[in-house]
Formats: sequence, C-alpha cells, structure tokens
Amino acid sequence: MWYLLGFFLLLAVVQAYLFMPTGRTLPYSEFKSLLARDKLAEVTVNDQAIRGQLKGSEGDEKSRAFMTTRVEDPKLVEELEQHNVKYTGEVASRWLPDLLGWILPLLLIVGLSSFFFRRMGGGEGGVMSFARSRGKIYAEDDVKVSFSDVAGVDEAEEELKEIVEFLQTPKKYTQLGGRIPKGVLLVGPPGTGKTLLARAVAGEAHVPFFSLSGSEFVEMFVGVGAARVRDLFQQADAKAPCIVFIDELDALGKARVQSPLGSHEEREQTLNQLLAEMDGFDSRKGVIIMGATNRPEVLDPALLRPGRFDRQVLVDKPDVRGREAILKIHARGVKTAPEVDLKVVAARTAGFAGADLANLANEAALLAARKNKPSVEMRDFEEAIDRLIAGLEKKRVMSDREREIIAYHESGHAIIATVVPGLDPVHKISIVQRGFGALGYTMQLPLEDRYLMTRTDLHNQLAVLLGGRTAEEIALGEISTGAQNDLQRASDIARAMVTEFGMSESMGAVSFDSHTRNRFLEIPLGGERGNYAEDTAREIDTEVRRIVNAAHERARTLLADHRDTLDRVARRLLEKEVIDGEELREIIHGPKGAQPA
Ligand code: ADP
Ligand code: MG
Ligand code: ZN
Repeated sequence: MWYLLGFFLLLAVVQAYLFMPTGRTLPYSEFKSLLARDKLAEVTVNDQAIRGQLKGSEGDEKSRAFMTTRVEDPKLVEELEQHNVKYTGEVASRWLPDLLGWILPLLLIVGLSSFFFRRMGGGEGGVMSFARSRGKIYAEDDVKVSFSDVAGVDEAEEELKEIVEFLQTPKKYTQLGGRIPKGVLLVGPPGTGKTLLARAVAGEAHVPFFSLSGSEFVEMFVGVGAARVRDLFQQADAKAPCIVFIDELDALGKARVQSPLGSHEEREQTLNQLLAEMDGFDSRKGVIIMGATNRPEVLDPALLRPGRFDRQVLVDKPDVRGREAILKIHARGVKTAPEVDLKVVAARTAGFAGADLANLANEAALLAARKNKPSVEMRDFEEAIDRLIAGLEKKRVMSDREREIIAYHESGHAIIATVVPGLDPVHKISIVQRGFGALGYTMQLPLEDRYLMTRTDLHNQLAVLLGGRTAEEIALGEISTGAQNDLQRASDIARAMVTEFGMSESMGAVSFDSHTRNRFLEIPLGGERGNYAEDTAREIDTEVRRIVNAAHERARTLLADHRDTLDRVARRLLEKEVIDGEELREIIHGPKGAQPA
C-alpha cells in the first residue's frame, strides 16, 4: 500500500512539473494593458489561468510566453475580439489532482483502520475479526499452580485428581468405551479456592488453560457473547487436550425466564450457544469444561444435564485442620517467629474461607512490618484476626456511660458462657470498639468443629446470647440498643428449633419449614413462608416467644447468682478493655487451685 501511495505522489510531482506555467507571470492589470495596447498574439483560457504569447519577433517563443491568474472579467471575450487576439478555451486537465483528492483520504482511512484492527485483534488483523477482536481469549499454556498450593478441600481435590488423569491419558479411559466427563462444576461459597483449584488442575495436567468469567460473555450487543462462545470452543478444539474454565458461571447461566420485558435476549442467546457447543463437543479429544459458581441454585437446569456440567464438585469452607493447612501455605513466604502456633490461629478463625486466611497472613505480615519487627509474632496474627473479624479499630472515643453499658453487656455473655457447663470456653472479651455495629465482643473458642448441636446446646446458646441484655437490666436497671443483634440471633435460633429441628414439645417433631435455604451462603431465599395454617403460625410465634423468654429467665437467675462476679468482670474490663479467657476464669472461679474449676 505504501508503494501505491508513493506512486501517486510521484505522479503528482510529474504532473505539476509538466503543467508548470512557462514564461513570466504577470499581474492581471498588466495583462489588460498589454491587451489594450494590442501586444498579445494569442491566449489560452481555462477556468483558473490565462496563458499566452506576446506579439513581436525578438526572442524565442519561451521568452514571449506569459501567464496570469484569471480575475472575474465578463467582458474579456469581447475585448479579445476587439483586439483580434486568437483565443482558445481549455478544459483544465485536472483528473490527477481530483483523483488524488479522493483517493488519498480513502487510502488514509483504510490504512488507519486496518492498523487499529490489527492492534485490537492481536495480530490476526482484518475487518472480519470484529467479534473476536474484543477481549481476546488466550490460553495460558504453562499454569504454575499445583495441588500443593491448595489445602483444606481434600474431597474436591480427590475428585479433581481423576480429571487430571483423564487429561493426561484419555486413551486409557476411552479404550473400554467409557465416556470422559465433559463438564465439571465447582460449587461453593466465595473465596474457598474454586478458581485456584481449576488452575491447579491445568497445572497438574500440564495442559493449556482457557479462562473466562461468565460476565465477560454478556455484552451490550446481542450476538457478540454467542460469537465469543463459538470462538472459545474453536480455539479449545485446536489446542486439545485443554481446559476451558468459565468462572462465575451464574452470570451467564441463570435460568432462562419468560420475561415480559424480554431484556435478557443477549444472555439467553449466549447460554444457548454454550449449551449447543457443549453438546456438539467430542470429549474424546480431551477438552474438559470447568465451571465455578457460588449460586448453583440459580443455574439453568439445562446446564446440569448429562453431557454438560454433569459432575459437581463441592468446594466447602475448610474445617480447623484445613484452615491450619491453608495458613501453612500462605505463611510459607512470611517470616514467622518460632512461637507462632498456626493451630491456635486456625482455631480462632472458624468460618474463614481460604481467601480470608490468605488475607490474614498478609495482614499479619504488614502489621509486623509497620512495627519494624524482625519477624511476625503471634500478637500480629491476633490483631489481624481482630481486624478481619470486626473491621478496623475506630478512632471515635466512647463516653464513659457507653463503655460501662458495653462492659456489663459483654461480661454478661462471658459469665454465662463460663458458668454453664458444656459450652465453648471464652477466649477473649473486648470492649474495644471496632468497625460498624460491633461495639464489643465475647469470643468463644470452639474445642472442636461441631456438626451436630443438641437441644441442650441450643438452649445454652440462647442463654448466652440473652446474657448481654440481662446483665444490663440487672446491673444498670436500663436496657440499650446494643443487644439488637443478640436478640435477632436468639430469635432465629428459637424459630429454627421450632420450625426446622422439631425441638418444641408442644409443636412436636415436625418441620414446618419449606423454604429453600441457600446451602452455601446460609441466606434464606425470599420471604416464602412454610405451608402451614394461620393458626399454626400463631402457635409457632407463641412457642418461639416461650423459648426465648425461658432463656431470658435462666440468664437472669444465673447472673443474679453471680452478681458480684458480674461487677468484678465489668470493672476489670473497663480497666483493661480486653480480658483473655484465663483471667476471666480466674475472676469467676478464684485463682487456680483455690477452688476446683
Ligand atoms: P473462589 O474462586 O472460590 O472465590 P479463589 O480461588 O479466587 O476463590 O481464592 C482466592 C485466593 O484465596 C486464592 O488465590 C488463594 O490465595 C486463597 N485460597 C482460597 N482457597 C484456598 C485453599 N483452599 N487453599 C489455599 N489457598 C486458598
Ligand atoms: Mg473465583
Ligand atoms: Zn451482645
């Protein structure tokens, strides 16, 4: 193309040279006076200039030639006739400038646009790659993650090891007529390592890894997402054996609904394309499609049918041993002091997912660095946990009255948790205000992960929850808003005892609860009520109230029995702001050895 451009430029120069006016250039006025004095032999007129020859014989033709630029002069022809000048009209020979005039911009546009397309299209260029040019899909050829980077999800890992084998030796399985699974869906709460696991499978099997997020498929323009799905599978086909990983599958695979607004056109088209591609795919080639989601219940059922994501692997939050193992992985790059016991850290972080633990290790390292310590100590881990649990320490100072209320409130929780047998021991009480909402907290350290709770456990738990509010009543004769969260949790537990666990004598061992809980997020879906009568609803409410009131009564009795202790713990708490479990037990039971605990 540049040659073509050069050629045209050359032509322009040649033309300019050829048509270069010869002879002198005169002002128009001089031309007119020459004309008046009969000095002109002949002229050639075009729409821009007048060229001509002067009369006379001296000099050659060249020296007699002249030219002048035309000026608006309607009488010119008349005058030329008067003076008997031979005149010729001329069509300006302008094909070349004209041609250049529109070819040059055209060339420029084509040149520029192809340049940009090539840049966006990653080398494949051409106007036709429009659909694939945006957010190009690349395969990661050498994934560095392996199963040793993942911990605490042993069952999922075990299932995925099988997939790794499929990818490494597909023949071994297909020889006997077996069908390699096409799709594997990783299901679990956020931050449990689903993305990490998918990458680890690719890393272990040493196959290319195509990774895309479901939301990336959903474009503003109808059809682009579908085109991208087609493109993805085409590329995967070329690179087999490989893994195609679609993260956040729910963004793309939500159940298709008949919406009166019809606004999900694009997503549905994309989903249909994905289903079609998965069906049309020959899994013997060794392409395995992996998906991840934390909301499996919203997925279109069509996605889960055999031949699609027919294997589902649960990636759950880690238990205490899993948490320790994950902490070990993330503490690998952190200089820890020898006294740091990750077992204790793991025990204190019940409910943390892998991502939270990774965050915790990092936070602890940063805290230690800020204090210029040579290594990360246990205290840094403790502080990092506190931060992650309840947000950053707030700078606002509380009034003494507020502090007193909170101190009594937390002491109430802590004392009941300690004097009632069979409860998790209190690890720490604090009235240091953190983040929003949590004004103080009492932290119980579970001795073991629980899978079952007995009715007694739940009743005890209720007494502990109500202990805060009750302590305020007893010690200060006033109640505050600080117990709102406790009351809510207590009511939830009591309601679940009645409607889900069948633990109420008067209601019997019946589950009235028909709403679907989201298994992974523990959020009840929607406000649907179970299918029971109005009367039953009233009965349930009465029963819930009875259970909560009984727990309240129990808390009142317990705290009244330990009235002195309550004062002592609260005062100590106001003084120190934080009391650990050991000290609390000493205050309650007296110093070690003085009394059997
Ligand atoms: P998900 O995709 O389930 O939301 P990710 O795989 O994105 O979670 O996890 C985010 C980060 O958290 C990972 O990169 C890793 O550092 C850490 N992580 C999460 N789960 C684990 C685990 N089971 N073992 C080790 N690290 C984990
Ligand atoms: Mg993820
Ligand atoms: Zn409370």
